[in-house]
Amino acid sequence: MTETDKRLLAEAKRVREFAYCPYSKFAVGAAVLGSSGTIYGGCNVENASYSVTNCAERTAIFHAISAGENDILAIAVVAEGVKPVPPCGACRQVIAEFRIPHILLANLADQVREMTLSELLPDAFSDEDLEL
Ligand SMILES: [Zn+2]
Repeated sequence: MTETDKRLLAEAKRVREFAYCPYSKFAVGAAVLGSSGTIYGGCNVENASYSVTNCAERTAIFHAISAGENDILAIAVVAEGVKPVPPCGACRQVIAEFRIPHILLANLADQVREMTLSELLPDAFSDEDLEL
């Protein structure tokens, strides 16, 4: 694991503390590395209507894109669990949209699982599938 990986995991763990999760009580933090070198964090933000809840992964990615990053090199996700928690299907699709090549999943016991995009979402739907 690189020093950058460690920084990403530390930021994901830090912003997890800001999670707004009064319904699930399941706090998640994520952090992404932009090609500029800047790290952007995000946490899950729940809603009483449940379905508009935003996961930490998407919050972090949207944070980076909104700041002008157009190339994301890695994402780290931290949650409490007996093993590193995998992203949900919606987040996998968003991670695929931005072709994030390096994925780090960790729990609070510092167990870390590294994955590639093709491992996370094989045969993903992409812009290429919109071509006629
Ligand atoms: Zn998700």
